[in-house]
Amino acid sequence: MSFIKTLLDFLFPQACLICKKRNNSVFCLDCQSKIKKNNLCQICGKFVLLEIFCSKCKKNFFCAKAYSLGIYEGVLKKAVCLLKYKKKINLADSLKELISNYLKENKINFNAETIIPVPLFYKKMKQRGFNQASIVAKALGKFLNLEVREDILHKIKDTPPQNKLKRKERLNNVKLSFKVNILNNLPGKVILVDDVITTGATLRECARTLKEKGVDRIYFYTLARSVYSRN
Ligand SMILES: [Zn+2]
Ligand SMILES: [Zn+2]
Repeated sequence: MSFIKTLLDFLFPQACLICKKRNNSVFCLDCQSKIKKNNLCQICGKFVLLEIFCSKCKKNFFCAKAYSLGIYEGVLKKAVCLLKYKKKINLADSLKELISNYLKENKINFNAETIIPVPLFYKKMKQRGFNQASIVAKALGKFLNLEVREDILHKIKDTPPQNKLKRKERLNNVKLSFKVNILNNLPGKVILVDDVITTGATLRECARTLKEKGVDRIYFYTLARSVYSRN
């Protein structure tokens, strides 16, 4: 028995973190294929093709284009939670593969100079030890061959978690909680990255802050999009 186990360990050193099956990936292809998509605008529910916002909502959110891998449930929710709360940072390579396949299959191109992850307040960062948005940003950056900049945008207020709040409260909660910290050579075109988008209040406030300082074109990229009730 132990011989078989050793052999299996040798052949398949990894087990999928989601389905626990022996595999060569921590997020196996079988699980990846179970990611669910949605064709409705994240904000108003209007039908959209590939992006997650309709054109009207994009304007309201200061964003040129917005994409997400899939719905925040099932396998994708498990993966995000493992990354965020269980520190399974070894998911990053699988995420890179998943993100690059998605972008290639859908022929998505970004006309961007740099990638900016949605920042955490320093206390939260200290507590968690890492920023999950940075991990997603780095996975995207590796594929696009773009630099990830964490020195541009900072969170200056310790706000209560968004997931405990109603839609209207979320907008107020993050208002003026971000700051651009560099004065010169701000990139003109950036991709803002977060792990999950729900009402989009956080990304909107980040984008508004960057626009105010002169960033011209902003894309949103999130790993998952969460379904929320409109109240
Ligand atoms: Zn699996
Ligand atoms: Zn919309």
